[in-house]
Amino acid sequence: MSGDFEFSVPVLVIGGGAAGAVAALAARAAGAAVLLVEQDAVPRGTTAMSQGLVCAAGTRQQAALGIADAADTLFADIMAKTRGETDPVIARAVADAAGPCLDWLTDSIGVPFELDTGFRAAYGHSRQRMHGWPGHGGTDLVQLLHQRLAEKGVDVLLQARLVDVARAADGAVTGVTLERPDGSRERIGCGALILASGGFAANPQMVATHMPEAALARHNGHEGNRGDGIRIGARLGGALADMASYQGYAMLADPQGITVPPGVIVEGGVLLNGLGERFVDETADIAGMVHPVLAQPDGRAWVVFDAEIEARNAYTLEIQGLNDLAAIRHVADAEALAALIGAPAPAVAATLAALHGRDAFGRAWAGERAPQAPFHAIRVCGGLYHTQGGLQIDGAARVLRADGSALPNLFAAGGAARGVSGPSYWGYLPAMGLGSALATGWLAGRAAAALTG
Ligand SMILES: Cc1cc2nc3c(=O)[nH]c(=O)nc-3n(C[C@H](O)[C@H](O)[C@H](O)COP(=O)(O)OP(=O)(O)OC[C@H]3O[C@@H](n4cnc5c(N)ncnc54)[C@H](O)[C@@H]3O)c2cc1C
Repeated sequence: MSGDFEFSVPVLVIGGGAAGAVAALAARAAGAAVLLVEQDAVPRGTTAMSQGLVCAAGTRQQAALGIADAADTLFADIMAKTRGETDPVIARAVADAAGPCLDWLTDSIGVPFELDTGFRAAYGHSRQRMHGWPGHGGTDLVQLLHQRLAEKGVDVLLQARLVDVARAADGAVTGVTLERPDGSRERIGCGALILASGGFAANPQMVATHMPEAALARHNGHEGNRGDGIRIGARLGGALADMASYQGYAMLADPQGITVPPGVIVEGGVLLNGLGERFVDETADIAGMVHPVLAQPDGRAWVVFDAEIEARNAYTLEIQGLNDLAAIRHVADAEALAALIGAPAPAVAATLAALHGRDAFGRAWAGERAPQAPFHAIRVCGGLYHTQGGLQIDGAARVLRADGSALPNLFAAGGAARGVSGPSYWGYLPAMGLGSALATGWLAGRAAAALTG
């Protein structure tokens, strides 16, 4: 495809989730005229399904609460969690950008982020660095970002899907073809293109190719994550990396489809299978735990906790939603818990009696709270939430070819780009999906504006 466009914009952003919205806001703040294109009638993306928690280091919110954190510390945590196997350039860029981006969103854009003091440092984070909007989740976050886009003068074109890209002889993108729901097409020129169209968890073929072991998990992300931007970027010469990387999640309430918040485990909850046995250190890995759950009889497990542990998580929208749907079952004692699970009572009693010291799975209970009767329990299954591999980018979110050279004016952010979760399912740090989406969106928006300004 080449040639004539109906009109042209300096910066064109594809995708109206967190990465695209932040990229567009950042480019606009840097003085560029921006058009954001979203395939859906209402922008939601995986962002809207999320808890809306963002990890970032060295923020104003942390400083106000006396939490000493810095980009260097976040970088070290990313490298440790990924066993040094993630791209250090992207890790450095995300670690450096996440804090300033969050402060900018709070102070200049008016997103009321606060530190989520209920979410302790866990699962690889050495500091308390979860930021959220109290009482609100991802749906409110994406709506607010779009409200800000309108206020800042960013044009948003809805119900337009990117299907093709035109480029010049030097490889520079010159414009795009968009398809409307009625099948009609339009062509728009651009000075720089930012692909922020999410990952590919909703594309069964790509999942089967790159992460076959995750194909068994229930997909719990946005249906628009078909990998369009990743495949189009690759056609333009972009290299792909870490395509087997993803966040699975072990605690998707079954059948309600609501995420049991990770804080339930962090505060002392445990997982029991249908035999009444534990099978994993639940605190070891937020994403990789999905596989031990998938391996249980029926691919199901029960999260067991108590009223105190629930109270510490009661501020989350998820606990409220789980209660609204009566997904949390209450039982008087171990015997009643066994009856609920359908497991032998002696097995359940023995499992619950062993929650002390360093248990057989390596979980340390010193100072941790083990659930006490009466018990609360939720049946869960394993879910595939979002992918973490994608287009190789540099520290300014420019898409790179396999030889390491940058495509002239193509950027990728969020789920469309290679993340910082390493090559597989065990490298994901909590809230890094949005942490890296915001950081790479911010970097891409600023760099695209500088390129076209
Ligand atoms: C249940 C759940 C909870 C989560 N909770 C958290 C959390 O609390 N913290 C965290 O950090 N991460 C969380 N995540 C992960 C996080 O939501 C994602 O990493 C993040 O939202 C990715 O943002 P994005 O902008 O890249 O993608 P998305 O939000 O998916 O946005 C991509 C957008 O691009 C559009 N699009 C796709 N293809 C095209 C096309 N061809 N043309 C036009 N538009 C297109 C889509 O419709 C979509 O709106 C969670 C994920 C799930 C599933």
